[in-house]
Amino acid sequence: MEKPYYDLNTYFKNIFGHRVHKISIDAGMSCPNRDGRLSTSGCIYCNQKGSGTGRFHKGFSVTDQLENAKVYVRKRFKAQKFIAYFQSFTNTYAPIDHLKRLYDEALAVEDVIGLAIGTRPDCVDEDILNLLQGYAKNFLIWIEYGLQSAHDETLSLINRGHNFKAFKDAVEATQKRGIHICVHVILGLPGETRTQMLETAKILSRMEINGLKFHLLYVIKGTEMEKWHHEGTYTCLTMQEYADLVCEFLSYVPKTVVVQRLTSDPHPGELIAPSWALHKESIRSLIRQTFGVRDLYQGKWFQPVSEKPKL
Ligand code: SF4
Repeated sequence: MEKPYYDLNTYFKNIFGHRVHKISIDAGMSCPNRDGRLSTSGCIYCNQKGSGTGRFHKGFSVTDQLENAKVYVRKRFKAQKFIAYFQSFTNTYAPIDHLKRLYDEALAVEDVIGLAIGTRPDCVDEDILNLLQGYAKNFLIWIEYGLQSAHDETLSLINRGHNFKAFKDAVEATQKRGIHICVHVILGLPGETRTQMLETAKILSRMEINGLKFHLLYVIKGTEMEKWHHEGTYTCLTMQEYADLVCEFLSYVPKTVVVQRLTSDPHPGELIAPSWALHKESIRSLIRQTFGVRDLYQGKWFQPVSEKPKL
C-alpha cells in the first residue's frame, strides 16, 4: 500500500536505488542561545546537552563516530551508504575554517555520500552557504533549519532568539544553490492553537522547502518547561491530538517534501512528560492509522500559489 506521506527511506531509494542511513554526529559545537551571545538559558525545552551525546568532548572525532556507527548501522539496517548528520547544537556556529575541517573530515570517510547540517536560521552567512554549495556539486547536501513555529509570539515565548524573518531570509539565501532545505517544526508548543500550527504548515507549503521534521514537544529535566509543567501552566498533547496534528499539517504540505521524522526521540532518563513520547513505534502506527481513518494524505489540501484565489 502506498504510504500517505513521502518518507526518507523512499526518498533515498528513489535517488540511489538502495538504503542510505543518516549517522548522527556530535562535533563539539555550541549555540548562541546558550553561550551568552543571545542568552545563556536556551530554548525553554532544551537542556544543557542541546540534544548532544557529548562524544566529541569524550575524545571521539568525527571520523571515529562515523566509523563506529557504520558497523552497527550496516548490520541493523543493511545500509550501504551514509549521510553524516551534524546534529548536536548549532553546526554552522564556528569559524569557517573550523567548519570546513569538520565537514571535509566527514566527507572523506568511506561510503559517506553527503552531509546534513542541523543549525539555526540566524547562524548562516554567505561564506557558509558558499562552502555547502561547493560540496553540493559532488555530494548530497541538506541543511536543517530549526524553525519550530512561524509565529513570532511563540518564538519569543519559547526564547528562540530569532524571529520568522530570520528563517525566511535564511531559506531565500539557501535556495537555488543545490542545497536541500529541511525544516524542523515542533507541535504542541505552549500557547499555540491548532489553527496556529496549521498556519505554520500553510506558510511552509508556499516556501519551496525540501524536507520536514516533526518534533513532539516533550518536557525534560533541567529545562524551563519542567517548571511550567510542575506549576501546571503547560499541559502536554495526548498521543491522538499529536497524530491528528501531524496528519492535518502534512495535508497542507506538497507531496514532494520529504518527511524526515514523525516524532521526537527523548532520552528515557530525562523525560518527564508525556510518557507516551517514548513509544515511537506506537506513535508512528497511530499516525498511519489516523491518516486512514480521516482519509488524509500528504498534499491533500495543498494549493499551489497560482491556484490560490486572489484576495
Ligand atoms: S537553538 Fe538548539 S541547541 Fe540552542 S538552545 Fe535552542 S534547542 Fe538548544
